[in-house]
Amino acid sequence: MVEEIKRSTRKEREEWIKDANYNLFKLASDQVYIDLLTDSGTGSMSANQYAEMMTGDESYAGSKSYFKLKETIKELFNFDFMLPTHQGRAAENVLFSVLVKEGDIVPGNSHFDTTKGHIEIRKARAIDCTVMEAFDTQIELPFKGNICLEKLEEVLKEHQDRVPFVLITITNNLVGGQPVSLENIMRVRELATKYNKPVLMDSARFAENAYFIKIREKKYNVHSIKEIVREMFSFVDGMLMSGKKDGICNIGGFMAMHSEEWYEKASVFNIIYEGFITYGGLSGRDMGALAIGLREATEFSYLETRIKQVEYLAKKLDRYNIQYQRPSGGHAIFIDAKKILTSVKKEEFIAQTLAIELYLECGIRGVEIGTLLADRDPITRENRYPKLELLRLAIPRRTYTNNHMKVVAKALRNVYKRRHQITKGYIIKYEPSLLRHFSVDLAPIGAITKEIPAIKNEIEVHRED
Ligand SMILES: *Cc1c(COP(=O)(O)O)cnc(C)c1O
Repeated sequence: MVEEIKRSTRKEREEWIKDANYNLFKLASDQVYIDLLTDSGTGSMSANQYAEMMTGDESYAGSKSYFKLKETIKELFNFDFMLPTHQGRAAENVLFSVLVKEGDIVPGNSHFDTTKGHIEIRKARAIDCTVMEAFDTQIELPFKGNICLEKLEEVLKEHQDRVPFVLITITNNLVGGQPVSLENIMRVRELATKYNKPVLMDSARFAENAYFIKIREKKYNVHSIKEIVREMFSFVDGMLMSGKKDGICNIGGFMAMHSEEWYEKASVFNIIYEGFITYGGLSGRDMGALAIGLREATEFSYLETRIKQVEYLAKKLDRYNIQYQRPSGGHAIFIDAKKILTSVKKEEFIAQTLAIELYLECGIRGVEIGTLLADRDPITRENRYPKLELLRLAIPRRTYTNNHMKVVAKALRNVYKRRHQITKGYIIKYEPSLLRHFSVDLAPIGAITKEIPAIKNEIEVHRED
């Protein structure tokens, strides 16, 4: 699909972002020129996907489109049991309703925000075991998304009876769309088996991860993406999937597993939360589009084009000396905001400040992966300051051209040139008690006045006058 995108003036953007309380999620899409907020559900579907939608079977139970999706999942990932859901987080909700209980501990590599939300809302805890190297953006390593095996073993040893499963996220989104190697997946499996724990894959970008394995893990170079995918999933007990990423769909998701017991228990939750087990909140045509999307996403030529576009933007940034998480990741570039805005304090949301500046500069919408996203500690309610303050520029699949990437790079260069004038960040006016980044309201430091109404919220809010 092709749609019009609108240019705007700086003055218009200044007003719009103020009205949006400096939260880019609150902008209307036509106030955005190039939208790199997310690669989730924003890709362009193919002619074959649209053709499949025309023959979508909308039967409540046992639709043909469901069986197409089920067969595709069996073929690609080799799971016998699957449940469709309306998107990835719904799969988390359903499966964690079966597997996670109060007091549990879920080790993994940089749990995704909704995944962490679904763990914490059950009064359980996510422990990040990502390798240390991931937190230095300038170290160039092929698999910075890996799980640190020593850290994982420590957690498994210390909390043996409280760990329901180990969660591997591919690619590791929060540290920059960095891949996990097959070697690492195997080692995690071995460790989990030693402690008698299942392993789940949070697989939103599994195809991009397979591409990196093919390109960077010598042994697998001769294998097709589909073979590598089969191999990756042969080491795990189940998967959670957001079809909005490597399913190249506008909506959709699923969970899949070997265990019939998990499937039966999850079916009950799927029915109450999502819909009957053969549609799970999706229309038949959505399931059809997802089945085709999964196949297309595992074609090498598609993946190569996509990842090379991300690299194209990265190379432009190299020329302008703008630092980002190296090497460039699968779906996005993660700008190292701390290295650019050196005078903004961490309490003032460094990456968010950079995101706002880029929007003001040229109407480009990125997203903060920093302190706002990291949220507060569920127990102490203190801000959690992550090691990295990143501005993520996520690139929708099959949507923008390299010319758009040129505009993005130049806009960033302009912000970079005036970086020394950007010395102040933002403070929080309002925040909800969970997943605050979606709905937080901010105000520029200095502009803050006594007029801001008191925060009616059950949680303590950090303030600075
Ligand atoms: C997007 C994503 C999810 C959640 O999926 P939604 O479809 O957005 O609900 C979970 N985990 C990872 C790694 C993701 O990227």
